[in-house]
Amino acid sequence: MIPMVNLKAQYAEIKDEIEQGLEQTIENCSFILGPNVQGFEKEAADYLGVKHAIGVASGTDALHLALAAEGIGAGDEVITTAFTFIATAEAICYVGAKPVFVDIDPRTFNIDPEAIERAITPKTKAVMPVHLFGQPADMARIKEICAKHHLKLIEDCAQSFGARIDDKQTGSIGNAAGFSFFPSKNLGAFGDGGLVTTNSDETAAKVKMLRNHGSDVRYYHDVIGYNSRLDDMQAVVLRVKLKRIEQYNQGRRRAAHLYSKLMADLPLTVPYEDGLGEHVYHQYTLLCDRRDDVLKALQDKQIGCAIYYPVPLHRQNVFKEAYADVSLPVTESVAANCMALPICPNLSDENIEIIVGVIRSVLTA
Ligand SMILES: *Cc1c(COP(=O)(O)O)cnc(C)c1O
Repeated sequence: MIPMVNLKAQYAEIKDEIEQGLEQTIENCSFILGPNVQGFEKEAADYLGVKHAIGVASGTDALHLALAAEGIGAGDEVITTAFTFIATAEAICYVGAKPVFVDIDPRTFNIDPEAIERAITPKTKAVMPVHLFGQPADMARIKEICAKHHLKLIEDCAQSFGARIDDKQTGSIGNAAGFSFFPSKNLGAFGDGGLVTTNSDETAAKVKMLRNHGSDVRYYHDVIGYNSRLDDMQAVVLRVKLKRIEQYNQGRRRAAHLYSKLMADLPLTVPYEDGLGEHVYHQYTLLCDRRDDVLKALQDKQIGCAIYYPVPLHRQNVFKEAYADVSLPVTESVAANCMALPICPNLSDENIEIIVGVIRSVLTA
């Protein structure tokens, strides 16, 4: 059996350090906005090269609060991708704005900058690219478009913690960004958690208020906010893992490159690195005409595999009526042929060889 992600093996290496930190938080009863949240925010801001990092309750909340703090609201349009997790679009809907879905690049699966420019209307207020599967979107081009049309740029970094474009981290390029610490993400907590990053003092101050009931001074409330704080216990875990994030992401890249090398001769399309930034392989997603046969063979051998994402957002029940006239040919074709293989920092060469062996036996039979 080979799981999609092996969190147990990762835990074994850092167990002592995490347990010590958790015990301290429990003994001090410093559960809410305690010293570890502050410590983590400082360490994450330093690592990501941003002025402010604000811990929140989830990645979904991070995107929601980032949009709200940037002043996106009712009647505004936000251009984004339909080839992503639903939370990207949910966050836009939460602030009362409308997601406008545009097509993706057929090789990277990231939002197509030229499609963004074509979709701009007088109502467009922001662009929200997703650094999908850990590969940075074409931020140079997207930033240029946003500057030209005076649009806010909010990055969905849920899958890209630690991914760089030259010497800049994803999450440090737009007006604001949202990260997720869902356990299986590149930097994962032991439950839900998220982070907003920004270089704007004003945006940071707003996010801090919004995450804590619209309050700056306790029991004085200036706006309707939310209960969306990062737990101190989660911050303990994140501080321990943040120290090792470079090693974790290098482990993911090593695994991905071995897969791609071993499958180079097979009739499938391995992930494409466009070289604009460094792919940190949150997922290893390939394209294969015979996806169903490959999935079945892997499942029979109890090898993890999954489809991210089988139904693009504009075809989901929740959106399909409102977006019936939207057609995104590249997105639809990728969704019909993509599949993801197990990937995590500690995936062994041996297991990669076993997985590739199963795929090879299907495709060369
Ligand atoms: C995981 C994810 C989110 C949401 O993060 P949560 O922490 O699960 O709320 C948002 N966008 C993308 C692209 C994601 O993969």
